[in-house]
Amino acid sequence: MDCGSSGQAKNGLSAAIISVGDELMLGQTQDTNAKWLASQFTLRGVVTREFRTVHDDLVAIESVLRELSARHDILVMTGGLGPTEDDLTREALRRAMDVVEPLEVDAQALAALDRWFIDRGRPMSANNAVQALRPKGARCLQNIVGTAPGLHANIGRAQIWCLPGPPLEMESMFETEVAPHLPHAVMSTAAVHSFGYGESFLAEILGARMARQRNPLIGTTASGSIVTARIRGVDAQAHSAAMESSIQEIEKLWAPYAFGRDQETLAGALGKLLVLRGERVSLAESCTGGLAASMVTAESGSSAWFAGGAVTYANGAKIDLLQVPHELLAAHGAVSAPVARAMARGCAALLKTQWAASITGIAGPSGGTDAKPVGEVFIGICGPRFEGVKKFRYPGDRASIRDRAAKSALALLRFALLGPEAFASAMIWEWNK
Ligand code: AMP
Ligand code: MG
Repeated sequence: MDCGSSGQAKNGLSAAIISVGDELMLGQTQDTNAKWLASQFTLRGVVTREFRTVHDDLVAIESVLRELSARHDILVMTGGLGPTEDDLTREALRRAMDVVEPLEVDAQALAALDRWFIDRGRPMSANNAVQALRPKGARCLQNIVGTAPGLHANIGRAQIWCLPGPPLEMESMFETEVAPHLPHAVMSTAAVHSFGYGESFLAEILGARMARQRNPLIGTTASGSIVTARIRGVDAQAHSAAMESSIQEIEKLWAPYAFGRDQETLAGALGKLLVLRGERVSLAESCTGGLAASMVTAESGSSAWFAGGAVTYANGAKIDLLQVPHELLAAHGAVSAPVARAMARGCAALLKTQWAASITGIAGPSGGTDAKPVGEVFIGICGPRFEGVKKFRYPGDRASIRDRAAKSALALLRFALLGPEAFASAMIWEWNK
């Protein structure tokens, strides 16, 4: 920490995030609340100085509240507000506030709880009423998504917000109850996503643009085989001209691998291109078993450009549904370039689409041979006056091979739609032997 013994931020407000729950400490649940809250603070120029995670333990929660309220302006704590024995946040807050009176009923919160159950035609169990208790001097925060009200209190100079653990409830309450008390956004962030090339290569392409003292600041991250450039404008107005030109520069440098910004997905980027051309796609999947189709149908509005798919796992299905010639399967095997090509052709004909992609490979861990090892996948693309097959060797386990294969099929379709030059671009898992 660079905040000195007081912990106070040099500039702006200093915050700490506290996550409460045995399930977090036991490694059963991932702490997504802390990550989300930190990103919200960052956007508003509030500096997160500490993260703490504690058990559902009265003494632990009370002591972390006492300790952190002494050195931060803002504490946001999530979890422990439910109606059960292990929900101890209310009582711990009372103790940390040095309130001697027992918890008291908040009439408004109790009425809101009553209404919540009446609206749903369900009786309220006695322990639910516990959620309407609060320490004297604290304020209940309305929960519009669930039952547990939040709490707000002051200890010394620190403002404390206690929010429910379930992420949807926590996020909604943060927006309505916490955000209005924080500074307006002073930092703008953007992301450019790419697929198909390695993070170290892509970072090298950006070169000095990634210098740490630059504004906007550019960094890269990789997750689920998607490499993302994250652009952060410090003290900038939301989305300044400098941000926009950095984004466009990265998109150009990372072409054709860069497929979208912020919330955009590979499937969404593919859909955009198809919609522009008024064309549709279909998918023939073997080792991915419908994963690519699932990624496509996760996009709202994909019915405009996706006709459907065929999960053709057995040779018989490839023959019956996609008209893959029996002789082709006998001569080359199901995992081969000629079969991938025939699957794509057959699928386009079956579903009457201009475009089709096929995926056939060995996801493992069993089924590999020296000649065709686990991770070997062929992806075929066919389109108007276009046909191509690429061979891949993906590293990793079954889940990641399937994920990469499905994403590669969508990426290759996008490349093919951009033109033969883009389709010829090398992807990192391509195997040209
Ligand atoms: P609680 O409010 O403590 O009863 O938490 C209810 C549920 O919210 C837990 O069972 C978790 O599934 C979820 N939850 C609690 N804390 C977190 C957290 N920090 N990140 C993600 N989920 C959480
Ligand atoms: Mg809990």
